[in-house]
Parts: sequence; C-alpha cells; structure tokens
Amino acid sequence: MLRGVVAMDGPSGTGKSTVSRRLARESSAAYLDTGAMYRAVTLAVLRAGLDPSSDEAEKVAVSAAADLRSVTDPSAPAVLLAGENVEAQIRGPEVTGAVSAVSARPAVREALVLHQRRLIDEGLVERGGIVVEGRDIGSVVVPDAPLKVYLTASEQVRAARRGAQDRKAGRSGDVEQVLADVRRRDQFDTTRKTSPLQVAEDATVLDTDNLSVDDVLYALLALAVERGLLR
Ligand code: C5P
Repeated sequence: MLRGVVAMDGPSGTGKSTVSRRLARESSAAYLDTGAMYRAVTLAVLRAGLDPSSDEAEKVAVSAAADLRSVTDPSAPAVLLAGENVEAQIRGPEVTGAVSAVSARPAVREALVLHQRRLIDEGLVERGGIVVEGRDIGSVVVPDAPLKVYLTASEQVRAARRGAQDRKAGRSGDVEQVLADVRRRDQFDTTRKTSPLQVAEDATVLDTDNLSVDDVLYALLALAVERGLLR
C-alpha cells in the first residue's frame, strides 16, 4: 500500500505513463495522468475550429476544464469531456500537435492545476496514495510530495518508444516524424513562461535509456520503501 503522493515528471517517451500506472496498480494507489487533461481541453479547442495559440482557444480550454472528469483508477484510467470518454481521440496526431500551445497558456494551467489538486486530495482520501504524472507535478502541483522522480532518456530512445506505442495503437509511428515531434514539444514545454518542464530541486533523476519497465518499477518501489511510503 502506497501512502502519499509520488510525483512523476519528465518529457514524452520516457515510459512515464507505463511505469506510473503500474506503480499505482501494484501499490493499490490512485493514478492521475495530467497530460490527458491538457490533451482533452486541446481536443475541445480543435473541435471548436480554433487556432490553438489564439486567445479564443485559451477561453474555450478554460471552460472545457470546468467540464472535465478524470477517472483515477489505474486499471481503467479515463478522461471525460462533458461526459464523453475521449481517451482514444486525445492520443491522435492533431491533439499531439496542438497540446503544447494550449498548455502554455497561464489561465489553462491555473484551471487545470486547481482541478488536479482536488483530484489528488480525493485520491488520497479514497486510497491513501496517488501516483501523479506530468511535467510540473513536483515543481508546481505538489511541491511538498514526499517522492519526486524525474525520468529522462535520449531523444532517439524516446522517439523509438513513442513510435512503437503509436504503431501499436494503429497510428503511423514513423520514427523520423515522431523524433521531430518529440523535439518540437520538448522545445515548447521547456521554454514556456508558465511552469516550464524542469527538474524539481529535490527530485531523483532516473535515466531510463538502458532500463526496462520492470527495472524502473523496481527502482521506484525501492525509493518508496526508502522514504517510508510503502507498507
Ligand atoms: O504526457 P503527455 O505527452 O500526454 O502530455 C501532453 C502535453 O501536455 C505535454 O507535451 C505538455 O505540453 C502538456 N503537459 C503539461 N503539464 C503537465 C502534463 C502535460 O504542460 N503536467
């Protein structure tokens, strides 16, 4: 049983989602994918036919955030936009291409961070522990989390992993194209003004280039035991 919050940050393709979800499942904790929330409000922007970097897009994303629900069960995580389960739609290339522009907007971040803190509190009440993954969890959303981990991997490894994931889900997954997207999103996410992707001062950095999912999971379990978070 996991107690407290585990903050999992890092760029895309580091295996964050896979290991975060497994850690939550194996320790009976809740699981929150904050990237899915940024993706869902981006879907609302695209459905409204708006330029993702426009002021109108920011307004639509903020109002979509008010109508967002997240299921934090690690066996069946989901995000619902106005009651519709949009898990599949938010993983496509259109949303992936637009999400960084929408998530760079301060009002969007403010609305979603409030929402995330509420979900984290609920997860703690219901299950005692929660694994939260994103880009700013240890630095902004839960700065006092008892365990913060920052996953890294080289661009090439991340692009290969993302490509494999895309192909498994029936999308193109061309490695060159995925690599270009990984670079573009890294650039956007690390240079934005509001809560850019960064390593929290007290985070443990794990380079996953040569680690399997099981290796990362064991490392996380060891860290959680060391901090007295597992019973
Ligand atoms: O993790 P995932 O790749 O689904 O995240 C999609 C995008 O959402 C990221 O590229 C980033 O722009 C944004 N994001 C964020 N802050 C978070 C989680 C995701 O800005 N906590």
